[in-house]
Amino acid sequence: MPDNQRLMDGGNTLRPQKRIFLGLLAITCLLFALLLGVLWYVPYVGLTSLHPRLPLILGFFFTAILALIFAGVAILAFTVLLGRDLPFSRSLRGILVKFLLPLMSGVGKLFGVSKDQVRKSFIEINNQLLLAQHPRAAPEKVLLLMPHCLQFHECQFRITGNVVHCKRCGKCPIKGLAELSEKYGVGLAVATGGTLARRIVVERRPRLIIAVACERDLTSGIQDSYPLPVFGIINSRPHGPCFDTLVNLDRVEEALQTFLFPSPDGRTGTAPADPPPR
Ligand code: SF4
Repeated sequence: MPDNQRLMDGGNTLRPQKRIFLGLLAITCLLFALLLGVLWYVPYVGLTSLHPRLPLILGFFFTAILALIFAGVAILAFTVLLGRDLPFSRSLRGILVKFLLPLMSGVGKLFGVSKDQVRKSFIEINNQLLLAQHPRAAPEKVLLLMPHCLQFHECQFRITGNVVHCKRCGKCPIKGLAELSEKYGVGLAVATGGTLARRIVVERRPRLIIAVACERDLTSGIQDSYPLPVFGIINSRPHGPCFDTLVNLDRVEEALQTFLFPSPDGRTGTAPADPPPR
């Protein structure tokens, strides 16, 4: 199975997210078309009194806007459905991140779709667009960015920012992540929140981030980091939010294999040491 497909099939829960996204997108488009129709019809009488052709000109203008929006949505939908990089899909990720998420959150609210479901769909579609573009980076330019809640709650070792102090006892996923970081030679950082995460990104200047977090933090992280590509993996929270959370390490490894440049000798990479803690 190709890497992209494997990554998107990382959980069967992904397909409904795609459906929610496409459904909300279709509803948003229809509402927008309705709004343009009203905007055209209401001043119709007044425009005719100014010039008999003005309603026609405005009608053409609105139709052109609508055609552009429908074309954009069609490209977005086909990129998501086919998993291929179609023309303009790069700009469409920008539109998704900057405009569509707030719009679709509003539409989702109207139709009883929870914020977290909309966020999940957004993360899923963001990932799908990234996979379609298939960016690759050298190991030293890839950063695994993890939330602090992955660390075992009784662990005494300080791992925020840098995980060199982790003793790899295996009581939490940090051990496996540190091993993946070594195996592939990529950076690994743990952040306690958005502010530290942003600082880490500014300091390390990665070209691609594989981030793990809850729906809310991943969504804001993807938005804050744009245009930097961020592949999002949602953590699991068997003990409730922000407490001893878990991550599927196989998914993290599949993402690494997908986004890393293959090394010329076919090896998986060696570990440059993390920078010393400040
Ligand atoms: S694996 Fe590392 S971070 Fe996790 S509990 Fe053990 S020492 Fe602490």
